[in-house]
Amino acid sequence: MSKIKATTNICMIIGDPVEHSLSPKMHNNAYKHLGVEDKFVFVGSNIKKENLKDAINAVRTLGIRGLTCTIPHKQEVIQYLDELDEIAKKIGAVNTVVNNNGILKGYNTDYFGIEIPLKKRTEIKDKKVALIGAGGAAQAIAYVVEKEEGVLKIFNRTYEKALKTAKKFNAEARRMEDCKEILDCDIIINSTNIGMGKFEDQNPIPLELIQKNHIVFDIIYKPKETALIKKAKQVGAEIIYGYETLLHQALVQFELYTNLKASEKSMLEVLI
Ligand code: NAP
Repeated sequence: MSKIKATTNICMIIGDPVEHSLSPKMHNNAYKHLGVEDKFVFVGSNIKKENLKDAINAVRTLGIRGLTCTIPHKQEVIQYLDELDEIAKKIGAVNTVVNNNGILKGYNTDYFGIEIPLKKRTEIKDKKVALIGAGGAAQAIAYVVEKEEGVLKIFNRTYEKALKTAKKFNAEARRMEDCKEILDCDIIINSTNIGMGKFEDQNPIPLELIQKNHIVFDIIYKPKETALIKKAKQVGAEIIYGYETLLHQALVQFELYTNLKASEKSMLEVLI
């Protein structure tokens, strides 16, 4: 931190809450590894929903270089931007804003946080994918599956939300009561909150549905070993951890902010 100068570029995460975010530590550690901590610094600020417009004005006024948006700002922020990347437009959410001389452009790097870990394990084309959940994170997942020509079924507690997401991404909607259909799928992705926080001891689907032939991806990263992941390991299924999503979305975001490539190691040191 002692290397910060008057010309250091500021990057920032905004959200409510934001205190739990690992982004500042991940980005600052990556700056240090690259020896550019005099050029960039990453901080966080708790911004309430009603203050978002003022916060975006401040980004312009202060010349903040990069703005990471988390809950509840990912959709709302779009109306205040000058340009929108095609992927972010299709998903309908922005987690990354780059300030190029006062022109604010929105991106969605969560997309890469899903696509890269999945493609490390399998081709998605023609694979049957069961997506549990139809909230914000599910939109990026559904877009990855659609783009890669997988066959997607969306299961959600609120069926209407599953239906809405399914229509948007050329998928089928299912009620949770139909979750036995998961047995016939190749990839299971949990995008609900079930498995973390106050739901840590609950499961998004009955665990007996998980079979050896499945690839099980839980995007929850805290805890690292959710009940879903533990069961998948137990039956010998392939697993994808939620921290991999966090890592890969951050690596792409880092490059957008700095035009430099961060080392995976520098970010993983913070994550695990
Ligand atoms: P969100 O928009 O609030 O969506 C929450 C989803 O969980 C909805 O489908 C909701 O169903 C379902 N859900 C919530 N409580 C439930 C309950 N008691 N029973 C059944 N379903 C329930 O949240 P989000 O932004 O998509 O985030 C979802 C999860 O993904 C969080 O755990 C978050 O930490 C994780 N995440 C991880 C990363 C990463 O980098 N690894 C990135 C983004 C998000 P309804 O539609 O019925 O309400």
